[in-house]
Amino acid sequence: MQQEFTESPEDARRRDLMVQRQLRRRGIRDERVLEAMGRVPRHRFVPPERRFEAYDDFPLPIGGGQTISQPYIVALMTQALRLTGAERVLEIGTGSGYQTALLAELAREVTTIDRSRALSETAAARLRALGHETVTFHVGDGTLGVPESAPYDRVLATGSLPSIPDVLLAQLAPEGVLLAPVGGRWAQELIRVSFGPRGRTEDSLGGCRFVPLIGAHGWRD
Ligand code: SAH
Repeated sequence: MQQEFTESPEDARRRDLMVQRQLRRRGIRDERVLEAMGRVPRHRFVPPERRFEAYDDFPLPIGGGQTISQPYIVALMTQALRLTGAERVLEIGTGSGYQTALLAELAREVTTIDRSRALSETAAARLRALGHETVTFHVGDGTLGVPESAPYDRVLATGSLPSIPDVLLAQLAPEGVLLAPVGGRWAQELIRVSFGPRGRTEDSLGGCRFVPLIGAHGWRD
């Protein structure tokens, strides 16, 4: 479906450079992730006036004080989820829908939730236009998860949390992985919680700075 999009050769060239210089050269190794980021037209997920910055090495505003994350951070998070194509994924913070599109490329089924109806509807329209049919959109407080379609093999928060809510861990499948920026309102660590035969393990992918998730287990408005 995506091949049907008219995109300028310049978009494709910038996307290719993004994959080589920002992702491969900095150590992103998962070929499926690199391929997906080489395919998904990121310029369609940013405001039109930002089109020529869509493949640059920084986050961009997407309206309402929200941002689409820097490509490298998106790649790092997506790689850390170790997706094989069989997973059911919950994404908290749909935003532009860019990360959602990548998850849809790399997993079996995606449930995504945003507290902003406007952002959710725009993202849903973009994904429909791109031909993604495995994504379900919800509007509401994602810090409570989306219990009606749990359990999930992967849970990804794309906004920050003060701590990891038990209610999200409870929606994970037995060998599940949760990834979230956890810490203070202005700076966090990207924390991965994995469940496996040896029980619960936790590691950090490093420091980061995400917009806050506002909600019951997030931050106050
Ligand atoms: N993944 C997005 C970036 C998301 S920015 C992208 O690729 O563009 C964080 C998003 O979380 C914003 O869209 C914001 O509206 C949303 N958000 C904030 N609090 C939330 C909550 N409690 N539940 C769900 N979404 C929330």
